[in-house]
Amino acid sequence: MPEGRIVKALSGFYYVDNGEQVIQCRARGLFKKKDARVTPLVGDWVVYDTVSEAEGYVMEVGERTTELVRPPVANVDAAVLVFSMRTPSFSSALLDKFLVHTETAGIEAVIALSKADLADQAELDEICQKYRQIGYRVIPTSTQDKRGLEEIRQALASHIAVFAGQSGVGKSSLINALFPHARLQTGQVSHKLGRGRHTTRHVELIPLEKGSYVADTPGFSSLDFVDLTELDLAQAFREFNSYADECKFRGCLHLREPGCAVQAAVENELIDAERYEHYKQFAEELKEYQRRNKPW
Ligand code: GDP
Ligand code: ZN
Repeated sequence: MPEGRIVKALSGFYYVDNGEQVIQCRARGLFKKKDARVTPLVGDWVVYDTVSEAEGYVMEVGERTTELVRPPVANVDAAVLVFSMRTPSFSSALLDKFLVHTETAGIEAVIALSKADLADQAELDEICQKYRQIGYRVIPTSTQDKRGLEEIRQALASHIAVFAGQSGVGKSSLINALFPHARLQTGQVSHKLGRGRHTTRHVELIPLEKGSYVADTPGFSSLDFVDLTELDLAQAFREFNSYADECKFRGCLHLREPGCAVQAAVENELIDAERYEHYKQFAEELKEYQRRNKPW
């Protein structure tokens, strides 16, 4: 049976891209996957059966490598975190929060420092160096002088990507500059955010080059720490992990524990103090979130 990728889900139909055309499919109820029942998601790789040239039934849903909840997309494997250098100005706290989410979702983060044409060069270099040192890919971009575009294109080859970042940072402009045929209206990505409203979000994958897609809805549209444990949070700061083995206590959260190798590394300036401050802030936020969302 033929296979393809679900690129859109709407009113009970799944639109499956087989690389040549898009087949409109229905699904027969839910699918058994391991012991759980799954509903097909946009991004799922599926086996389908055709009933006519352009219509069929989804028969099987493949294993997912990742699964985002907001927006609901399966198999996203790259997130371009778009952070502008000006208007709005760069926020390392927000970037560190996005990075917690990409780390815990198991998605590769590509940091795009957008509007680099407006940046102070020293500030730009400093941010690049800081995050590259931790092991992230950082790419200054500009839709004005076109810098970084080719590098982002390469980073996204054969990936399913989401673009994430505050409204106004230049997500739609960047997607349009990267993939002119994708034709997103400026502002379109952010309009779909629907802040605080509980409308059903329809997410659609826009096909780029061979097998690459980009979601038309920003990734990580909620930055709440849902389903995150304190240890997940600590491990999401990837530069802590090489020191954590040396902590006196197993499961050390690197907050006030004695004999903590991470706290020592911060004191010795081996770990960036600002990142560590953000970690402490998020740990507080997580506690607060858990307090508010107790099941009793
Ligand atoms: P989105 O809300 O993240 O999708 O942001 P938009 O793509 O709508 O861009 C917001 C504003 O930033 C628009 O006025 C763009 O013209 C401007 N902008 C986007 N990219 C750049 C850039 O690389 N350089 C400069 N100078 N302005 C940009
Ligand atoms: Zn520790």
